[in-house]
Amino acid sequence: SVDTEAELIAKHEVLFLFKPRTKFSHKGQFGHSLIIGGSYGKIGAVTLACKGALSAGSGLVTAYIPKCGYTALQASLPEAMVITDTDKNCISNINVAMQPSVVGLGVGMGTDSKTLKAFEAFLKENKSPLVLDADGLNMLAQHTALLKMLPAQTVLTPHPKELERLIGVWKDDFDKLEKVKAFAHTYNVIVVIKGAHTITISNNKLYVNTTGNPGLATAGSGDVLTGIITGLISQGYAPLEATVFGVYLHGKAADIAVGKYGYQSLLASHVIDYLGAAYLDLF
Ligand code: AMP
Ligand code: MG
Repeated sequence: SVDTEAELIAKHEVLFLFKPRTKFSHKGQFGHSLIIGGSYGKIGAVTLACKGALSAGSGLVTAYIPKCGYTALQASLPEAMVITDTDKNCISNINVAMQPSVVGLGVGMGTDSKTLKAFEAFLKENKSPLVLDADGLNMLAQHTALLKMLPAQTVLTPHPKELERLIGVWKDDFDKLEKVKAFAHTYNVIVVIKGAHTITISNNKLYVNTTGNPGLATAGSGDVLTGIITGLISQGYAPLEATVFGVYLHGKAADIAVGKYGYQSLLASHVIDYLGAAYLDLF
């Protein structure tokens, strides 16, 4: 509609958001991200999200995963701490003593009835900012009462199928934007419409990203984005700032990485490897 503002997000815009580190920075200033997710065969999704959060600059990262993933995650990502669920293969009760700066929930998580119960109990207790992706979104879509339990400005990062489950089918792109705007307003959330031109919607405003390429159409790239946004919130970026900046950095890292790997061979891990180059490009 005519009252909607749209802004293109390029380097000039993210430079206003960027908080560079100073000589006397210490890790206590960069927060503690908690990544909750994973299930048997999908521990890699959590590993990628944790790595994304650490590479975005989160001071500490803890993974909360089912028991089966313990060795794999610890061995592939020694920088992360791990807490395991009582269940071997899925999340069944989210029991964490710590108070994280931010929680990223849903990657590789599955939608088992035990997991859904644990998710609902978590939402009742949770006091941290929240980023929801993948099966976190699928559980919301299946049980819409959970939407009212989300903290203000929760970040939702659906790909097209997940978005359709949340808002229903749309007639065309304009209809899609109207539906997402209404949804974001009703539940006071930030919605990232992922795709070739990722659009973030919050408060009736559209932030249209200008980075990224078809190399990102690959397994795990969304999990990396979830980790990056979580890791930025951990450092004190407001959820909307973290989202707009995170989507930009994720795309920029892929744009730099593609010069080495090409579209076909780009892996989600490469996006993490080139996140530093995306940050350096800001200077
Ligand atoms: P997911 O489907 O959850 O793994 O997320 C895929 C990620 O890759 C999102 O950040 C998308 O915006 C991005 N992506 C997928 N396809 C493209 C494309 N053709 N051009 C740019 N980015 C893309
Ligand atoms: Mg995904």
